[in-house]
Amino acid sequence: MPETREKRKTMKHIPAFLLIFAFVIALSGCTSQVPETGDSIKVAVTILPQAEMVRAVGGDRVDVMVIVPPGVEPHTYEPSASTLIALEKTDVYFKIGNGLMPFEDKLSEKVGALNRDILIADTSDRVTIIYGSDPDSPAGKDPHVWLSPVNARIMVENIAGGLTSIDPENAAYYEDNAGKYIAKIDALDAKIKKEMNETPERTIIVTHPAWSYFARDYAIKQVSIESEGKEPTARDIEAVVTIARQRNISVVFVEPQYSARSAEVIAEEINGSIVIIDPLAGDYLENLDRVAALFAGKHA
Ligand SMILES: [Zn+2]
Repeated sequence: MPETREKRKTMKHIPAFLLIFAFVIALSGCTSQVPETGDSIKVAVTILPQAEMVRAVGGDRVDVMVIVPPGVEPHTYEPSASTLIALEKTDVYFKIGNGLMPFEDKLSEKVGALNRDILIADTSDRVTIIYGSDPDSPAGKDPHVWLSPVNARIMVENIAGGLTSIDPENAAYYEDNAGKYIAKIDALDAKIKKEMNETPERTIIVTHPAWSYFARDYAIKQVSIESEGKEPTARDIEAVVTIARQRNISVVFVEPQYSARSAEVIAEEINGSIVIIDPLAGDYLENLDRVAALFAGKHA
């Protein structure tokens, strides 16, 4: 790397007493929370919500690249050659998790062979996985782990652990930042719990079953229009209409990454409306707050 060579060259011209002085400053810096200066850590993440988490924990120390572009659906995403090239110069890749997004595992293998120094970390390590709720996931693992404050806490800890392992001098900085962000997650979790407790009807109708973790955490029943990963049949649509009528539901939630056609048909049948919610929004915590309010029937 030319930068390193440059640095080595300038070091030769620095008098010894100045070097000792710098060393003492560096030593005293260990106990403070101020990050060390130096090259920032190049981090790659799969989706936008992870980018908010990494920036919250890594602060000034990280430079974040998001692999799946905004508006693109990650389940069937195929990374381009330019993604692979960018990952060759990346220090850490926080994947969503092993066996969760098909492209991640293939990509990790390729990147690991090209870039031997990269740390590939599983962001959802230690998260309790829900099986069988998402037809898009061939292994049966529900990939939407980030859509739950409970899981987000664990993910943030994993991110702090990953950054610390490649940059241990700044361990205290990462821990401190993670703690602050987790406090925000805790506050949101408490707010959603309260909101949901005040909502007697906790059934949601969605186009794509992305909210299983959220539903588990807040005792919500998720009814998905999409069935077995295919376009719903007339019978599937009728079944959802029946549930909506029985439970007096007038809102059908659609995701910007999926067709709203069947949702529109259902909304018309029940004299209701469609509301867009985005599971991949970049303003992660604010978005969860917004979606929870919509689930609780508080239309923003
Ligand atoms: Zn999904």
